[in-house]
Amino acid sequence: MDSSSPRPLEGKRALVTGASRGIGRAIAEALATQGAVVACVATSVDSARPASEACAALTAGASAHGVDVSDTAAVQALVKEITQAGGLDILVNNAGITRDGILMRMAEDDFDRVVAVNLKGVFNFTQAATRALMKASGRIINVSSVVGVIGNAGQANYAASKAGVLGFTRSVAKELAGRGVTANAIAPGFIETDMTAALNEQQRADLLSGIPLGRIGTAEEISALVTFLAGPAGGYITGQTLIVDGGLSL
Ligand code: NAD
Repeated sequence: MDSSSPRPLEGKRALVTGASRGIGRAIAEALATQGAVVACVATSVDSARPASEACAALTAGASAHGVDVSDTAAVQALVKEITQAGGLDILVNNAGITRDGILMRMAEDDFDRVVAVNLKGVFNFTQAATRALMKASGRIINVSSVVGVIGNAGQANYAASKAGVLGFTRSVAKELAGRGVTANAIAPGFIETDMTAALNEQQRADLLSGIPLGRIGTAEEISALVTFLAGPAGGYITGQTLIVDGGLSL
């Protein structure tokens, strides 16, 4: 980029959950590359620090924070601390976990925990940040999953949590549109991260046979859409689910 051209997110403040690795790390760095100051949130401040240091090298500032996204009171305190320092323009709810298993053998705790992190975590951050986002005519971007749209055997808990995020996003989009806030969900297909590294060769081959583009996606192919939605070009998109899955759901 020409060094004289302004970066589209210069002066914006962003918060990314699950920023320590994988898709969240790519999102944090992409927002920083476009000029945003990024608060990197992960389960512990130590795990978030490498991401915040990478962001700080790209933009005017970055910070590292540790919280369990499912802990409502802790999230409220953290969002207050981050927004007091200068507001918030962009909230990216990306933290997520899987605890796969067939329904007949799924432990109650595996259902509850996945919903607590993947769905209640999105509620916690969005509610805590709403006032600051309204002041900024901000952007909310929630990372769901294509599994929340089409379902997946062995992931009833995960699919339910991710489908919940889609309904939540559409409702919040309607509620906050009058204040100039947009809310959208991205539904990735299979993306190369720690979450998919656990697949064995056979699972990988089976997976690839179902993806028309014939490959697993990259975290950068998700982060590029986040910066688009967060930037000036994304201002008239709200309440949508944007599927980025190489055609898997076709
Ligand atoms: P990952 O496992 O590599 O990273 C997950 C991140 O979430 C980490 O930073 C971790 O610290 C954080 N996290 C987990 N539980 C947390 C908690 N309770 N509190 C705070 N932070 C917590 O995962 P990823 O593959 O980068 O996935 C990121 C998001 O994208 C998730 O929501 C996931 O469901 C979604 N997704 C991933 C894929 C994929 O193929 N990798 C596909 C579709 C959707």
